[in-house]
Amino acid sequence: MTKRFEARGRKEQVTRTITQCPLCRSSSLENLPFEYWYQHEPFPGSRCSECGLVFLSVQPDRETLEEMYGEQYFESDFRCGSAPASYFSTEEPFGREAASALKLIRELTGKTGGRLLEIGCAGGWLLKAAREAGWKAKGVEISKEATEFARTKLGLDVFCGGLSEATFPPHSFDVVYMADVLEHIPDPVSFAVELRRILAPDGHVVVCGPTALNALWRRMGILAYGLFKKTRSIAAAPYHLFEYNPQTIKRLFESVGFDVVHLRKIKIPPGLRSRGIEDFFVFAVEIVNYPATLFFGLWSDRIVLCARPRAENEEGKPGSWKGLEPRTRATAKGCDDDESEMDSEPFGGLSAMVVIELLVGERRHCGNDCSHGKRPLLWDAAVTW
Ligand SMILES: [Zn+2]
Repeated sequence: MTKRFEARGRKEQVTRTITQCPLCRSSSLENLPFEYWYQHEPFPGSRCSECGLVFLSVQPDRETLEEMYGEQYFESDFRCGSAPASYFSTEEPFGREAASALKLIRELTGKTGGRLLEIGCAGGWLLKAAREAGWKAKGVEISKEATEFARTKLGLDVFCGGLSEATFPPHSFDVVYMADVLEHIPDPVSFAVELRRILAPDGHVVVCGPTALNALWRRMGILAYGLFKKTRSIAAAPYHLFEYNPQTIKRLFESVGFDVVHLRKIKIPPGLRSRGIEDFFVFAVEIVNYPATLFFGLWSDRIVLCARPRAENEEGKPGSWKGLEPRTRATAKGCDDDESEMDSEPFGGLSAMVVIELLVGERRHCGNDCSHGKRPLLWDAAVTW
């Protein structure tokens, strides 16, 4: 369902309302007590009761997204406003981050060269470093301003638009890399299917990104707002259309024919900003959260995933929805009366299962052979982002 409205001082904005989980197709969605406000419109958070995927149930359309990623984004909103410098003004510190990313790619894939695609390459600092290191590097970027910078200032091969629009031939790349991008993608399943199509059979996809709502203080915040039946309004553009956790991101890739070969949970070290009582509270919780991630793999707020295309004869056609058939709310929970169940939910619309998951951790262990839960070494948590 789409909705059109006139935003003050700008042209018409179009949104779409999501009524089915984009990952498992369940229509059993729960409202979460937060929402972004952008151009006088709310973009509320929802959670799938079936698979736990968190996403905005109202999302901007493609044209609005392109406007959101204009030049202003790279001046002030890049990295949620925490970028250390204006992106276009200096190579430093983005050059150092690029070197760190190439080191990570080398560690996870064992590759030191080949055909590299960066999705969401911005102005191309990583691609520049990759080219200098011997990679055949290409980029995809939705921002016209950033693409122009990459092409004219750095001489890079960057496609402006979405990944599917680039129409790369099958098996075009040995490595696809993206950092802080997946949560911005409107249709992650189609996106992941396309990723698999363009990867070489022995290729790797490396994904770095936030799992912000997985952190303990965010979990406590959602629980508290739910208990008091309040909604946290966030006056910001709805950049993050999805909020992944280690389970949902793994399920996304596995559902379209990838094997997740590495899943690293990371906690950003606590930092006291001293802006008020809430920051002191957050800092206190983070002091507990940091070692919990380090030693037990709990409540991470960043993740690194590496996946490889599964051989087609092992699981059938990639992209098929094996084991992910849509289920109704009643069948999903074994409940005969979903209306009465909704009425009886005690925590402001959050089910008891959600409350337990919010506080204790994830619904289930990821179950792969990664370091998660098995090798929580300091090194795992110290990866740069
Ligand atoms: Zn779902």
